[in-house]
Amino acid sequence: MNLDRILPYTRTLLERAVKPGEVVIDATAGNGNDTLFLARLVGEHGRVYGFDVQQEAITETTSKLEEHELKNRVLLFNQGHETIEETLPPVHHGAVAGAIFNLGYLPGSDETIVTRPRTTIAAVEQCLRVMRSGGMMILVIYHGHPEGAVERDYLLRYCEKIDGLEAQVLRYQFINTQTPSPFILAIEKK
Ligand code: SAM
Repeated sequence: MNLDRILPYTRTLLERAVKPGEVVIDATAGNGNDTLFLARLVGEHGRVYGFDVQQEAITETTSKLEEHELKNRVLLFNQGHETIEETLPPVHHGAVAGAIFNLGYLPGSDETIVTRPRTTIAAVEQCLRVMRSGGMMILVIYHGHPEGAVERDYLLRYCEKIDGLEAQVLRYQFINTQTPSPFILAIEKK
């Protein structure tokens, strides 16, 4: 098959946008898979800022990074991603090269702790402000659960209204699947 699945395509887009030594954000650290990918991507002189509201996710991400000896490139915060702007040091404002929001709930954990439209959109707005020109933000939207479907609709309405002079937004989705397949909104800052 020549069409990338969702996860590989997410990574391709981030690999294209982010250069070694740059600063990136994992807005939903979860089990740390995306954080680990980003830590490798930015290299030894880069920095990853990771956020999650669950201490369990921060602990899991920390041990994954330690296992791969990459913890020194990553700063983890047991905070909502709606605090991105106040948490990032001013020197990184306008310099962030990439961000990923893997939305929904932590697989195998408490499914009532899910990302919510109000805080997700606040964080996306903040990310747009702190990104550099050409920076890439990826939202992976899981809409097979009820909260996910609500979040999808809010995010689509929000993204359709982003000023085209500020950023371009791509939707990437397989549309002939039997169950709602996750899809990507990729926001590239101009
Ligand atoms: N990226 C993760 C990985 O690679 O394993 C998967 C993330 S999981 C689908 C979604 C995560 O978002 C959960 O761990 C959940 O605790 C977290 N979350 C929910 N609301 C949040 C918020 N306001 N800010 C940051 N994280 C949040």
